[in-house]
Amino acid sequence: MDTTLRGVGVSHGVAIGEVRHMGTAVLEPPAKQIPAEDAEREQGNARKAVEAVAADLMARGNLAGGEAQAVLEAQAMMAQDPELMADVDRRIAVGSTAERAVYDAFAAYRELLAGAGEYLAGRVADLDDVRNRIVARLLGVPMPGIPDSDEPYVLVARDLAPADTALLDPTLVLGFVTEEGGPTSHSAILARALGVPAVVALPGAGELAEGTVVAVDGSTGEIFVNPSDEKKAELEAAAAQRKAALAASTGPGVTADGHKVPLLANVGGPADVPAALEAGAEGVGLFRTEFLFLDDSKNAPSEEKQVEAYRQVLEAFPEGRVVVRVLDAGADKPLDFLTPADEPNPALGVRGLRTLLDHPEVLRTQLTALAKAAEGLPVYLDVMAPMVADRADAKAFADACRAAGLRAKFGAMVEIPSAALRARSILQEVEFLSLGTNDLAQYTFAADRQVGAVSRLQDPWQPALLDLVALSAEAAKAEGKSCGVCGEAASDPLLACVLTGLGVTSLSMGAASIPYVRATLAKYTLAQCERAAAAARTGDSADEARAAAQAVLSGE
Ligand code: PEP
Ligand code: MG
Repeated sequence: MDTTLRGVGVSHGVAIGEVRHMGTAVLEPPAKQIPAEDAEREQGNARKAVEAVAADLMARGNLAGGEAQAVLEAQAMMAQDPELMADVDRRIAVGSTAERAVYDAFAAYRELLAGAGEYLAGRVADLDDVRNRIVARLLGVPMPGIPDSDEPYVLVARDLAPADTALLDPTLVLGFVTEEGGPTSHSAILARALGVPAVVALPGAGELAEGTVVAVDGSTGEIFVNPSDEKKAELEAAAAQRKAALAASTGPGVTADGHKVPLLANVGGPADVPAALEAGAEGVGLFRTEFLFLDDSKNAPSEEKQVEAYRQVLEAFPEGRVVVRVLDAGADKPLDFLTPADEPNPALGVRGLRTLLDHPEVLRTQLTALAKAAEGLPVYLDVMAPMVADRADAKAFADACRAAGLRAKFGAMVEIPSAALRARSILQEVEFLSLGTNDLAQYTFAADRQVGAVSRLQDPWQPALLDLVALSAEAAKAEGKSCGVCGEAASDPLLACVLTGLGVTSLSMGAASIPYVRATLAKYTLAQCERAAAAARTGDSADEARAAAQAVLSGE
C-alpha cells in the first residue's frame, strides 16, 4: 500500500530506505534496597558512570565540532551538575542502588525543569538523554540511541537529542523523521548542518513499523510509506535533477536578471567555517557567539579566548562580510552566571540584549575582543544585537559599540514584532537590520519554537510573518540601509525567492542549504520574485502563501 504522511520538511533531499527506530526505551531500574555497607561503593559507581558519560559526550562533541560541540558540552555539564550528584549520593545513602538513585534524582530535576516554563522543553529531552546514558552504563546494557546497523536506513525517533544528531553518520543514516521538534528546533538546525534530509513534527512517526520502506522528502515534508516503484523512480529522478542543478550552481547569489543577493553562512564558531567555504558562502551572516560561552556556565570566556575564536572566523573571509551577533543568552540558551533562574517565562524575560545591558562588562569584553580580532584584517566586520525591541535598545547597543572603539557597522536583529513595526525608528541608531525569523515567528504567533505541537505557527511562510519581513525591508530601503534574513526562513529555496521579492538584501543560512538557495534564485528574475512575494501575502495561511508563490514561479 502506498500511503503519504506529511510533517515539516526541515532539511532538503530525498532518502529512501528501511525504518529503524531509535533506542528510546526508558530504562527504569528496579527499586531495591542495598545494605548500608554497600553505599560507599555504589556512590563510587555512580560517580564513575557520570564521569564516563560526561567524557563520552565531550568526545562526541570534539568529533562533531561546531554548534554540535557546544550543545554536547552543555549536556556533559548537565551530567556533572553538583546538586544532582549530591542528590544521587543522598539517595544511595538511604538505600538506593546507584542506577535507581540516578533515575530518581534526574526525575526530580526533570519535574523542576518541566514546571519552570517553556524554554525547558528542549532541555528536558537533553536531560532524559543524559539520564538514559548514565543508567545504561550502570546497568551494563547498550547505550540508548542510534541503532546498530551496517545497512543504510531511515532513522525514526520521537525526538533526537543533540548527542545523537551530532554523530549521525550520513553514509548510514539516509534521512530522519521525528514526531516532535519544529522547523527551528536545534535538531532541525543540526540536521541542516549535516546535510541529512529530515522531516520533523510528524504525528504517529513512532508507529511506522521497523523495517518498513519509506521515502522521505525533506523539501516537502512528505513521507511515502511503501512507495511504489514508479514513486521511487519519480522521487529519485527529481533528486538527481536537483543534484545536477546544484553541482552547476556556483558563484555569488544572484537572480536570473543579475540582482545580487549575497548568500552568507550561519556559523557557531571556527569549526563551521570549512563547510561554509565549501558551499561558496560569500561571508557569514550570523556568527552565533553564544556557543563560545556554553563551555563554562559559571564564567564568560576570557578576552584572549574570544579574540582567538573571532579571528579564526574573520580570517577565513578576507574582504568578505562577517556579521557577528553578540551573546544571545537566556530562554533556550540559559547561562548560569547571567540568566535569572526564577523567571516565570524566560522567553519573555531578560534574554539577548537585555541580558547584556544588565551585564555591561560582558558586552564590553566581547566588543573589545571583536575590535582586537579585526585589527589589520581586510574583512568587513558587522556587529549586531539580538532581541532589540525599540530605538532605546538600538541606541544602547550602538553606544556600547562606539565606547569599545569598534570599527564596524552596528546592526539590530529584528526578532520582536515591535522592532519590525518600528524599524525606521530603530534604523536612526543602527546601520543595518537582520531578521531573525525563528524568534520573530515565535513572538508573532506566541508559539514556542521548541514545541512540535505548535509548529504550524512556526512555519515561516505564515503571511503575518511575511508582512513583518516586508515592513522591515521597506523601512531599510527608505533609510538607504540593508536588511538581511538570518533565520531558518532563508534556507527554504522558494521562500528565499519570496524574501528577495519582499526587498531583503542578503540571505544567511546553514552552509548545506546555500547551493539549493543559489540554484533556485538563479532561475527567477527580481520581478518574478516580487510577484511571488505579493501573491504569497494574499494567502490566509502558510500553505496558501506557499501555493500562491509556487504558482507564480512555475508560471501557472
Ligand atoms: C532567529 O531567531 O531567527 C535567529 C537567527 O537566532 P537564533 O535562532 O539563534 O535564536
Ligand atoms: Mg533568535
